[in-house]
Amino acid sequence: METDVADVEQAVSTGRLPGWDRVETLIGAAYERYLPHTGGAVADYIPILAAADPGIFGLSVAEVDGGVHRAGAADTEFTIQSISKAFVYALVCDELGHEVVRDRVGVDNTGLGFDSVIAIELNAGHPMNPMVNAGALATTALVPGATPAEQWERIRTGLSRFAGHQLPLDGAVYHSESLTNQRNRAIARLLESYGRIDLDPLQVVDVYTRQCSLRVSARDLAVMGATLADGGVNPATGERAVSPEVCRDTLSVLAANGMYERSGDWLFEIGLPAKSGVAGGIVAVAPGKGAIGTFSAPLDSAGNSVRGQRAIAYLSRALGLNIFASAAHSPTGRSVTA
Ligand code: GLU
Repeated sequence: METDVADVEQAVSTGRLPGWDRVETLIGAAYERYLPHTGGAVADYIPILAAADPGIFGLSVAEVDGGVHRAGAADTEFTIQSISKAFVYALVCDELGHEVVRDRVGVDNTGLGFDSVIAIELNAGHPMNPMVNAGALATTALVPGATPAEQWERIRTGLSRFAGHQLPLDGAVYHSESLTNQRNRAIARLLESYGRIDLDPLQVVDVYTRQCSLRVSARDLAVMGATLADGGVNPATGERAVSPEVCRDTLSVLAANGMYERSGDWLFEIGLPAKSGVAGGIVAVAPGKGAIGTFSAPLDSAGNSVRGQRAIAYLSRALGLNIFASAAHSPTGRSVTA
């Protein structure tokens, strides 16, 4: 990915965010800096997404103390799409435990596109990780519930707990994707043929398509991410969504797989676990500190929002969020105390 942050002073992680005013200044600066950026193309393989306004840009930072910063169209809603995969994975891990989901779904990057069929074939039917469509379908199939309607209700309630309010379904996007998701249906059938999905594959695809069609804003994504940064407690409502262990597991899966086949590149440039979706949202999580949510519809060729990536690169650097960046404890060398 391309970033342009060499001119931004590299702050290092201190264990907490800088003060409120500094974060306000930097989120405003990130908005101004990337609003004029016109790179990328709006997704159109789900027909209704092609109608998105490429000029809309929203940014939000949610802190683990409950404070929320906003810039631009931070309250404009769009569909969560693949970002739902992160939170459904967390819910399923919370219900079934780390080992079961690791065995059934996996944690390793495929190095291939999010809707790859070849990846399934190359791995003898194993879906590989929960952030690609194969693994997300296998994960959704594990959501507890006697019927697809019960599973869907569980997902909507669970994701709403992360956001702190009831997330609405976008009926038009759900309808548009349902008419055109033949590829996801094929992936689910293939998983069924390998014994990786025990339920009716088409019903699993339907629940998955609904979860992708939940509406969120950049602000919602920031709060949802801050819940993962806060050991599973929503900092805005004080309600627990999942356990601290599940947050840790989810964030490690995001670090390896959250930005599709560009996940390594992303981690190298930005140093934060993150997840993006084809409607143009990204959530990036700074464990113990907070999270950034962004919305801008134009995407790069892997499906990651171009403005969103740049703005998060800027904020990660300026706010000192990169989890790999450190400064010497004793800048002049080792201080030895006898
Ligand atoms: N609902 C979309 C799909 O399954 C989500 C893709 C994405 O956001 O990466 O194709």
